[in-house]
Amino acid sequence: MKCSMGRLGGACAFVPVAVLIGIVLSVFRPLYAFENQRVISFFENDNSISVLQGVSYFLDETRNVTAEKIVEQRASFRWLDSPGESLNLFYSDDTLWLSFFVINTSRNMRMTLLEIDWPFIDNIELYRVDNDGLVVRQGVQGDHVLSHERPLRNRAYIFPQNLEPKKQVEYLIKITTSSLILLPIEIWDVDSYWENETATQTLLSLFFGLVIVMGIYNFGVWFYTRDVSYLYYAIFVAFVSLYEASITGYGFQYLWQDSTWLNDHALVLFAGLSFLVGALFIDAFLGLKDANPIMHKVIGSLVILYAAFILISFFVGEIYVAPLGQYMGLVLSAGTIVLSAHEWRKGNMAARYFTVAWFVLLLGTSVYTLMLAGHIPHTLFSESVQRVGISLEVLLLSFALGDRFNRQRQMAKQATDISLHLATELNRSHEEKIRIQAQAQRELEGKVEQRTAELLEAKKRLELLSITDQLTGLKNRRYFDGCYISEYKRAFRSQSSISIMVIDIDHFKRVNDTYGHLVGDECIRLVAQAIHVHSQRPGDMAFRYGGEEFVVLLTDTDDSGSSSVAQLIRQEVERIQYRYDGSVVDLSVSIGIATTIPNDEVGSKNLLQQADDALYQAKGNGRNRVEVA
Ligand code: GH3
Ligand code: MG
Ligand code: MG
Repeated sequence: MKCSMGRLGGACAFVPVAVLIGIVLSVFRPLYAFENQRVISFFENDNSISVLQGVSYFLDETRNVTAEKIVEQRASFRWLDSPGESLNLFYSDDTLWLSFFVINTSRNMRMTLLEIDWPFIDNIELYRVDNDGLVVRQGVQGDHVLSHERPLRNRAYIFPQNLEPKKQVEYLIKITTSSLILLPIEIWDVDSYWENETATQTLLSLFFGLVIVMGIYNFGVWFYTRDVSYLYYAIFVAFVSLYEASITGYGFQYLWQDSTWLNDHALVLFAGLSFLVGALFIDAFLGLKDANPIMHKVIGSLVILYAAFILISFFVGEIYVAPLGQYMGLVLSAGTIVLSAHEWRKGNMAARYFTVAWFVLLLGTSVYTLMLAGHIPHTLFSESVQRVGISLEVLLLSFALGDRFNRQRQMAKQATDISLHLATELNRSHEEKIRIQAQAQRELEGKVEQRTAELLEAKKRLELLSITDQLTGLKNRRYFDGCYISEYKRAFRSQSSISIMVIDIDHFKRVNDTYGHLVGDECIRLVAQAIHVHSQRPGDMAFRYGGEEFVVLLTDTDDSGSSSVAQLIRQEVERIQYRYDGSVVDLSVSIGIATTIPNDEVGSKNLLQQADDALYQAKGNGRNRVEVA
């Protein structure tokens, strides 16, 4: 088209006609092409030239055409012109033959390299046709040539060619491949080539350095945080690196030198895996499982689709799946942008960098995909834009991850603060509870103690009350019964003497009768007091036995001891001067004493009886006296 337009360029008045003719010519280009094939001039100051400007080509369905046959029967093949800056024939099972003419316009011999920068081509054979029609095979390259058979090891395929001065030569290139046929073909001045290659390789090294470091770094982050986003990201970066290694030819040069199988599948495999893991990353990063369950499912389906698509490509060949995969990639990238923009708008701040990052990648991938699909030419821009996109994306995604990490850290800190606060509160209330419990316990214990003491006191009082005679304050008859038996037994055990004294007030009936019972009671009290005064020694015990009778127990006391105590009591009573109604109430007591060192434990009654008998005797002998049994 360009060619025919050029020839009609002057006829401006006939522009519409020219366009029409151009269209017609482009339709019938096959018939027209060969005769008009341009000779490519390699000028003195040219560092490189693209040969595509002057290439004619045809597809050999029979696959048995030879270079010699082409030279002999040139016109019998259906030659087509190269479309211009790049040649993208997509996929073809046929053998592709290319022809172009070159002339070295300078006066010197030029050492050149013919470069085909597309690493997936299976077989490239180069033939040189001299002026006299002699065909000379220049070598074979491609990824079906094993590493030891390759004349020159380089990431792009290169053939060294010496171009003689002022001489025109024709080159024929035979290409067979199952992969995408994308053909950037250039002739380079040798020095310029290596200069350019050094610069290119430096840039590519920077690129690989960047993505590899990002991959390793994020793998490390995953290793310590176990946040699966980082792992997906690291794997994503790894596959993107492998994808780039495969399209730049590094993979075949260094990583899988002799695996022609892998190189045949590398493009689809690594692009597919990049998108697959990319999809998983998107899902994990945006937390779609909770944030957007529908999209989570959509992405899950995409992942399965990609896996299926990669597997199928191994069996049916790239040609049937690659176009679908490429457009799926575009759809995924575009979908991601819409999705993450939506998440961003919803307030998922992690989606902010993410949106921009995938937008950049989409841009690069779109251009690259359109280039691979043949819609736009293969140029430095279209080839590099995806790589730039990937670099920016990798960087932006690491920002996105950093941003997310920071957000999660802040949230974790908030959560820690809250839980710390809660824990402190809990602790405080727990302490308060313990304090209250302890206080209650103390109060309770105090109360119990007090109550117990009170009860003990009451018990003591009751006990005392139950053994004390109300009127006199002496111990009562009940207490005497217990005491007497045990004292008697003790005296038996220690073989000490025990003495019992029975005291009875004389003519007491008369007192009652004369002065009344109240006076009688008072007299009983006064007598008890007199008894009490003289039974203070340890071991002495005085009791009110009943009515106006008293008993005194004297331990470790013999007859004479107890007699003298009895005399003291008798005299004390005698001395009582109780006045009532103007007259003194006469008071005296008779006392009977019995003393023994017990022979057994049971003779207490007997001893008491003896004392009683002695008392009876004292009464009989005139009262106010002491008698010893
Ligand atoms: P005796 O010298 O022979 O002992 O003559 P008595 O009058 O004291 O005779 P007895 O011992 O038999 O009498 C006891 C009297 O004591 C009988 C009773 O009225 C009186 N009596 C007994 N208990 C009490 C008491 O608690 N209070 C008063 N006021 N009188 C009592
Ligand atoms: Mg009596
Ligand atoms: Mg009496």
